[in-house]
Amino acid sequence: MVRKINLVQGDITQQDTDAIVNAANCSLMGGGGVDGAIHRAGGPEILAECRRIVAKQGRCPTGQAVITSAGNLKAKWVIHTVGPIWRGGNQQEDQLLENAYRNSLQIAQTHSIKSVSFPSISTGAYRFPVERAAAIALATVQQFLTDSTIEEVRFVLFDKATLDVYREELAKILN
Ligand code: ADP
Repeated sequence: MVRKINLVQGDITQQDTDAIVNAANCSLMGGGGVDGAIHRAGGPEILAECRRIVAKQGRCPTGQAVITSAGNLKAKWVIHTVGPIWRGGNQQEDQLLENAYRNSLQIAQTHSIKSVSFPSISTGAYRFPVERAAAIALATVQQFLTDSTIEEVRFVLFDKATLDVYREELAKILN
């Protein structure tokens, strides 16, 4: 079987997958962390498209996703999804994080995208515990890929500690 899920340490703005996923916020107007890095590297066209989307359909609810082109990036597409802010675990955070991954993959598949890079959604400024987020992220992706036209999902983890957690959780899922 082809290994469809790959884990790498790196910068998501440098990935050559068809699409990269942005851990955006509901405003879609950019922010810090990975969101800021993607808009800086991709240039103003991405934000212009986000503005058009918000003008047409309003803010992006938590767990949902939208797609734009990728400006100057190597990827062709940026999928912007909004992960949940961690509020202790009783505010449907798990379900909302799962929705963010699944809706991102669904929009990718609809656009015939074959490869997608994800950051570790919600585990930065939104403070979702990383072990718990990794387990949800990997299980959701694994399940989606069992019946999908997507060929590769790459998790691009910014730091070694996060990469190690994703490695451990992936090993659990594969066993
Ligand atoms: P959120 O608000 O969803 O928590 P953040 O951007 O604050 O999003 O953090 C999500 C994760 O993305 C964190 O692990 C952070 O270290 C990581 N990150 C930040 N910049 C990049 C980047 N350029 N490429 C990949 N991951 C990044």
